[in-house]
Amino acid sequence: MDAPSKEDGILDVAIIGAGFGGLAMAIALKKAGRTAFRVFEKASDLGGTWLFNRYPGIACDVPSFLYSFSFAQNPDWSRCYSSGDEIWRYMKRVADDHGLHPYLHFNVPVTRAQYDEAARLWQVTLGTGETVLTRALVTGTGALHVPSLPDINGLDTFAGAKFHSAEWNEDFDPAGKTVAVIGTGASAIQIVPSIAGKAHQVYLFQRTPAWVVPRFDRPTSAMTKALFRHLPLLQRLYRTLVYTRMELRAIAFTVWPSLMKQLEKPARAYLDAAIQDPGLRAALTPNYTIGCKRVLVSDDFYPAMNRENVALITARIERIEREAIVTADGVRLPVDAIVTATGFRVTEWIPGVQLIGRDGRDLTREWHKAGAARAYYGITAEGFPNLFMLLGPNTGLGHNSIIFMIEAQTRYIMRCLKWLWAGEAESVEVCAEVQRTFNEWLNARMQRTVWLTGCKSWYLNPDGTNSTIWPSFTLTYWWRTHAARRSDFVLETAKTGPAARA
Ligand code: NAP
Repeated sequence: MDAPSKEDGILDVAIIGAGFGGLAMAIALKKAGRTAFRVFEKASDLGGTWLFNRYPGIACDVPSFLYSFSFAQNPDWSRCYSSGDEIWRYMKRVADDHGLHPYLHFNVPVTRAQYDEAARLWQVTLGTGETVLTRALVTGTGALHVPSLPDINGLDTFAGAKFHSAEWNEDFDPAGKTVAVIGTGASAIQIVPSIAGKAHQVYLFQRTPAWVVPRFDRPTSAMTKALFRHLPLLQRLYRTLVYTRMELRAIAFTVWPSLMKQLEKPARAYLDAAIQDPGLRAALTPNYTIGCKRVLVSDDFYPAMNRENVALITARIERIEREAIVTADGVRLPVDAIVTATGFRVTEWIPGVQLIGRDGRDLTREWHKAGAARAYYGITAEGFPNLFMLLGPNTGLGHNSIIFMIEAQTRYIMRCLKWLWAGEAESVEVCAEVQRTFNEWLNARMQRTVWLTGCKSWYLNPDGTNSTIWPSFTLTYWWRTHAARRSDFVLETAKTGPAARA
């Protein structure tokens, strides 16, 4: 491979994935003057979730002036909530601006990585058949990755167009067709309004109604763009205001979920004002505390549900036939296409990559066996020296921008890597006791949050515990990770063996 690497052929860092996480890590390495790193991406381009998810109407539900890198502000966001394509183009531009292309390797999946304890190196096996050696391994594989397909009798026998929201068929034209959309999550509520104007008929199959709040999306005025371009500090101030407004919601999400009732009021008022038909309104009314599942943000979902050619189906799907969906109440609905907007297999964790650490331990197998993924601030895991994760366990958010978390994690990883580069250690591994104590704190903290108020969501493990969400303020996460404490880790060198133990 022709990417930069050290003279001995050993990389400083191998990064898996070229989404927001992988790009942030690569940029941090470049800024630190490191060049012996590579980013391996299984897809043919960068972008991660914003490359894969190409369904009509895709946009981010966090305002763009916040959902972007703090070090790569963009004064030109076209809207408050920009489209997926605009976000993807932003990512491409950031990669160009930081000269990342020589480091990015596309169509190169990482299938396995094994830690060689004697050499203190990770052996990374690529889908191309090659093996590369690296001192540190960083996973930036994202959580919303592997489509979760519904287990519905006959789905495989359906003869029409059929695809998951994250695998949208770009050749599919809904014009004049009868389209079934299964699911009412963040993806479905963006798809339905986008196809309703073209399709002959849309059936939206709902299992659980979702809380929806208005987005108040609007184009960015020319004046705002000019002001932000010429006064970057003003844009930074605006970003801070947006961040603070979102962060304040953590008080209700993570400290006093009873306050969520106050957030339910405007959502109820919005539903009442937007949906006149009492039957439809009742069917769209959620029966769980707002925030327990992801709060959906949309200006056009309810108006779409009012359309003559959009029908909400709440009866359970009994089976799917060659050309129709049959519900449990015996109704047979002929359809031309089925869109499964049924979410992702979140608990796959680092999908497609087998990670073998010290003593032959398999990271994801251990997590599956335990029924929960456990790490230290979602970044490191005991038994896996020199392995660092971006958006690992318990670092997802329900109230703020995930890019804030990625940047905090990148800073933390860089501090650990500097121990290696300074020759203070050849391996860095979080102490088992430190990880255990942290997870006890995490679990105790989680009990107070809205995510454990009784709804069923993809945030939860089968036993009802939560391995996906950070149960506190993002500011707390930033504070706790702004410096990596040496005493939390075992640092080992080749000559001296363990150099420091907590
Ligand atoms: P999701 O939130 O997991 O929603 C999946 C939907 O499919 C739910 O309504 C679920 O119903 C339904 N469903 C699942 N299995 C089903 C079955 N067998 N039969 C009938 N219905 C079934 O998935 P998503 O909408 O793709 O969103 C996933 C995550 O992606 C979001 O939470 C968000 O974090 C992210 N996302 C973000 C944006 C954005 O704007 N930033 C956009 C899209 C997605 P139940 O509720 O009953 O389980």
